[in-house]
Amino acid sequence: MSWLSDDDEDDEQELDESDFRARPNPKANRPRTKRRPAHADARIARVLGVDRGRYAVLIDEDEADERAITATRARELRKQPIVTGDRVRVVGDTSGDEGTLSRMVGIEPRATLLRRSADDTDQVERVIVANADQMLVVVAAADPEPRARLVDRYLIAALDARIRPLLVVTKTDLADPSEFLGHFAGLDLEVFTSAQTEMPVDRIGVALVGHSTVFVGHSGVGKSTLVNALVPSAMRATGHVNDVTGRGRHTSSSTISYRYRGPAGAGWVIDTPGVRSFGLGHVDPANVLGAFTDLAEAAADCPRGCTHLPDAPDCAIIEAVAEGRLGPSAPARLDSLQRLLTTFAR
Ligand code: GDP
Ligand code: ZN
Repeated sequence: MSWLSDDDEDDEQELDESDFRARPNPKANRPRTKRRPAHADARIARVLGVDRGRYAVLIDEDEADERAITATRARELRKQPIVTGDRVRVVGDTSGDEGTLSRMVGIEPRATLLRRSADDTDQVERVIVANADQMLVVVAAADPEPRARLVDRYLIAALDARIRPLLVVTKTDLADPSEFLGHFAGLDLEVFTSAQTEMPVDRIGVALVGHSTVFVGHSGVGKSTLVNALVPSAMRATGHVNDVTGRGRHTSSSTISYRYRGPAGAGWVIDTPGVRSFGLGHVDPANVLGAFTDLAEAAADCPRGCTHLPDAPDCAIIEAVAEGRLGPSAPARLDSLQRLLTTFAR
């Protein structure tokens, strides 16, 4: 299966159900015109991936006849992005038989939505993943050199979307990650380290159970290697990145959900193509502060419009931390908060 494009919203060539003559559905016992408005027979399905206007959706999830079927989007949803992780209502032929197509007629409310703003490299705001509750940020200890700022941007996007961030540092056989990890000491962040011959598959697996975890990272950090170790059936292509274009690995150029099944249980791994940049224009700084519970409480006494940055006059967080009222780890947390707020302010 190859889902080559995850940003088909503006694909003019996109197909919808009217371009496709569906086979008569033997189970349909009411006239089509009557069924269409209410869609009372719609079924819920999980969007696994998308390839040029055709969506792979999982129906009857966790039941004996669970199956991935192909769906197009109904005309009325044409303007709305539908992304990996979305729960959609589908009608029509949901048998999944060869050559059949079902039709998505609605999107269920989303628990979370990970998106990135338009930025220098991409003028369009992109919706990346729906309903993820964790983000695993993958960064290499070396080759490519880790950049704390880039990780900060991922963390901000996660915190803003109310998604719990996790961090894995790969290639620790090449370099010691301690100094780099020092940047994140003040964050409530579960950290894994991984080396060529020692990948913490079971430990990461435990964190995946019962969650939808979106994997993000710059290309070359070993994310595909990690996904393959966790979900052997994923068969993500590894190691053939063109440094100039970042392309050359077609199987990794779209966002796809994979089911993780490990000794501790099951979960969802959502692999994204190497996200090179993360425009944060849509982010609300209050959501970033909100992730630091005790600091956010102290901020109630800040002057209106307080930036909480080191030069902010009368910042109640800075005062509380300086007076030791928030405990011994508070200075490190304040540092982290300020770094994130600075990143955001750029
Ligand atoms: P992706 O672009 O993030 O999906 O990265 P890949 O999984 O394709 O890995 C990029 C390269 O790094 C490949 O040649 C991998 O074999 C290599 N690699 C992945 N993990 C490790 C690691 O822990 N240590 C070392 N030394 N190399 C690794
Ligand atoms: Zn303040």
